[in-house]
Amino acid sequence: MEISFAVDSNAGKLARWLRMMGYDTLYFKNIDDSELVRIALRENRVILTRDTQIMKRRVVTNGQIKAILPQSGDPREQLYQVATELNLDYRQRQFTRCLECNQTLLPRSKEDVKELVPPYVFRTQAQYMQCPNCLRVYWRGTHWQRMKTALEAFASDSAGQQ
Ligand SMILES: [Zn+2]
Repeated sequence: MEISFAVDSNAGKLARWLRMMGYDTLYFKNIDDSELVRIALRENRVILTRDTQIMKRRVVTNGQIKAILPQSGDPREQLYQVATELNLDYRQRQFTRCLECNQTLLPRSKEDVKELVPPYVFRTQAQYMQCPNCLRVYWRGTHWQRMKTALEAFASDSAGQQ
């Protein structure tokens, strides 16, 4: 069973990291606790929150829903905690999901994205992915490389600590 997440506003950076790793992660800027719990229950999602009230709810304490309360304020440490607890995979699905809206990205040909990317990118990149929802185009440029480097540094840190 694939692990998926429901994240509330106090762990937003963490949501982006999880999407970067390819995990289905719903992020809610404004949601009340009951609604978050209802969605997690319905869709079998792990709740990530820094709201201690949610952790006290019966559906959480009796194990019907899994919820994790990140201890640290630092998103990297939060990710480490969640990844360790759930044994997440850092590499398998990197960059398969839109960072903005969580949709699964679709492969696109150069011609498909010609009008959507800067000319320099079009000349130098062969592979593209696009979000079917917000239409944002992703390619393996410098931003991508930076995120990949950060993720891999993190993965080797974690391996070292385990
Ligand atoms: Zn999108």
